[in-house]
Amino acid sequence: MADRAPTLNLGALSGVWASVYALRDRLEAAADREVIAAWRSVVEGLDLTDVIATVEQSAPAAGGDPAAAALRRRHLQQVTAAAVLARLTTLTRAPGWPVLIAALVAALRRARAAGQRAGHAVGDGDGDGLDDDGQDDADGDDAQDQVSAYDIAAAALRALAATVARQLLASVASGSSTSTLAALVATALSDGLAWTLTVATALGLAFTSGMNTAYAARGVLQVDFVTAGDSSVCATCADAEDANPYPAASVLVPPLHPNCRCSIEPAGSED
Ligand SMILES: [Zn+2]
Repeated sequence: MADRAPTLNLGALSGVWASVYALRDRLEAAADREVIAAWRSVVEGLDLTDVIATVEQSAPAAGGDPAAAALRRRHLQQVTAAAVLARLTTLTRAPGWPVLIAALVAALRRARAAGQRAGHAVGDGDGDGLDDDGQDDADGDDAQDQVSAYDIAAAALRALAATVARQLLASVASGSSTSTLAALVATALSDGLAWTLTVATALGLAFTSGMNTAYAARGVLQVDFVTAGDSSVCATCADAEDANPYPAASVLVPPLHPNCRCSIEPAGSED
């Protein structure tokens, strides 16, 4: 199944798919910029000095039983991540937090609306209408978008806490100074990388769901899963494509995993 080229080679797209992916890339880049800017103003000034001190004091001694040491490292990773997450969670009461949530909601709505335009463009086989970003404003469910925004934020904070814990423990184990640890933590908090992947995955889902909405509006009854990527396709997505076509209501809507760039199209379309 695996180890085959994607149906859509993202490095060599043409026609409507080139326009669809260019639009999706612009949306993701804009959302990434806005969300990370909002995040930086939220996280600015967060002080984890006490967490760093606790980690330094609890660093395991060298030697001893390797299995017991591995278990202890895993335990330390979990409790440190929990301690960092508890501190990150206090940021949800920061004055800038609603701005961050609003940026996520707006990005989701734009992605869904743009996905609908993309779906009609794929149905028409004409991507000319996708070159400007317009004022996409999806008719959507505000409450649902808020819930999605909080889910995205929760996932990003969990990922960030795990990253900070992992970096701290590795750095303590290699004998870094307290000031090095503080600089490491400051970078991890402000670089926004935890948001980039989480936001891209959520936007991808909103975009592809918008395409499916457009297909439904056009009366499309069967939908194909289309693999997309730069080199080979993962087994999950290859299997999803092998099961084509799907009844429109039950197609697997990508992304099926982080960094999945796959899409959907009306069954029987020419690629
Ligand atoms: Zn995929």
